[in-house]
Amino acid sequence: MCGIFAITSNTKSAQLAHLGLFSLQHRGQESAGIAVDNCGLLSAHVGMGLVSQVFTDRNLSQLPGANAVGHVRYSTAGGSAAKNAQPLLCSHVHGQIAVAHNGNITNADVLRRELEKKGAIFQSSADSEIIIHLMAREKGPVENAIIKSLPKLCGAYSFIFLTPGKVIGARDPLGFRPLILGKLGKSYILTSETPALETIGGKAVREIEPGEVVIIDKNGVKSLHPFKKTGKTAACIFERIYFARPDSIVGGKSIQSYRYDMGRCLAREMKGIKADMVVPVPDSGNHAAFGFAKESGIPLKMALMRNHYMGRSFINFTQSIRELTVRLKLLPIKDLVKGKTMVLVDDSLVRGTTSRKITQSLRRAGAKKIYLALCSPAIVSPCYYGIDTPTKKELIANRMTPEEIRRYLGVDGLHYLSLDSLLQTSCGGRRDVFCTACFTGKYPARNPDVEK
Ligand code: SF4
Repeated sequence: MCGIFAITSNTKSAQLAHLGLFSLQHRGQESAGIAVDNCGLLSAHVGMGLVSQVFTDRNLSQLPGANAVGHVRYSTAGGSAAKNAQPLLCSHVHGQIAVAHNGNITNADVLRRELEKKGAIFQSSADSEIIIHLMAREKGPVENAIIKSLPKLCGAYSFIFLTPGKVIGARDPLGFRPLILGKLGKSYILTSETPALETIGGKAVREIEPGEVVIIDKNGVKSLHPFKKTGKTAACIFERIYFARPDSIVGGKSIQSYRYDMGRCLAREMKGIKADMVVPVPDSGNHAAFGFAKESGIPLKMALMRNHYMGRSFINFTQSIRELTVRLKLLPIKDLVKGKTMVLVDDSLVRGTTSRKITQSLRRAGAKKIYLALCSPAIVSPCYYGIDTPTKKELIANRMTPEEIRRYLGVDGLHYLSLDSLLQTSCGGRRDVFCTACFTGKYPARNPDVEK
């Protein structure tokens, strides 16, 4: 998962992109970067770490230009390394180009081998670089090269390209990852989520459609639809459950309102449950827990305290110390928990290790009974479309039966939101709008790199 942002025709383009990236920081914390177009000459500053660590007043002031594109990265392909920090900036037959990508190309290995055999020399190990090499083999103006190259890619992509005088956005035909068009005065903006617009005083115009390419230049926005429309899309439903910010607007509603409805559905599915309180696992379980409490009439208590100041400073510690970091991140408020029966609301269960530590710390604080309620169905298959889920073998729902999971987590009951309820809250029950592959194993796009 990554966050991408671009702004056009603005004398403060790099500074506004910088603010936009802060608003998208939850989508990637490994690296950050901004590329600018200064009267046809592109330059970039990228680095490892958070937006606040990568950029200073000084290096931002060295990024003049009217158009800018930015990226925050969480790696799913190619590993966490400085060479993979984006935007990727290069010069080729179509001139200079900077690329920011959110998603995962599922035939990247296959294409890379073919391109290398033909002489391509890659600068990074990121799947995103594939598009640059494909474009270099196409004739015509840069937008033609993009349109000819996109159909060769499988999987998930929302791209933003910066070229001299132009910003070009593209979304894959199934629309796995979001891309939104916004406006600020005369400037156009492309972004992964709407809060990045609101942060800089801009407004959303519309979502870029699955399969749409938009070319933004001094003449305005031109929209192209190079892919045949199938009527099917596969937007990642996990954006609603977990990834997107609660204040993001998708489909005309805030993400928090979808999560609130998921909580209400969970309460209906668990009707009759007796508990003293509903406790969210902060922050991802907060809004669903509000909905659960409202629907069930059970009082909500913020009984787990989250430390927001941890950062990533513990990554080099030994295993035994790392174990303690979960306690540092989330700690129960003992006098709320002691002797109480609770419904603990969380977004999902992947490996189960974090949930186990949370329930252990609730038990240490004196919790009497814990019923774990999850806003997603059981995760049984890995994601190949830009989310860093573990292998099939590591997913707890594949390794254990529901009863084994209940015992492993040390809870008195475990309930997953049904897929029907999840789809009902997200899109009125339609099954042809969302990707749900991690719950069903039915992948909506080909994955040649894992099929080989
Ligand atoms: S497999 Fe799951 S996480 Fe991946 S895109 Fe589909 S719904 Fe999203």
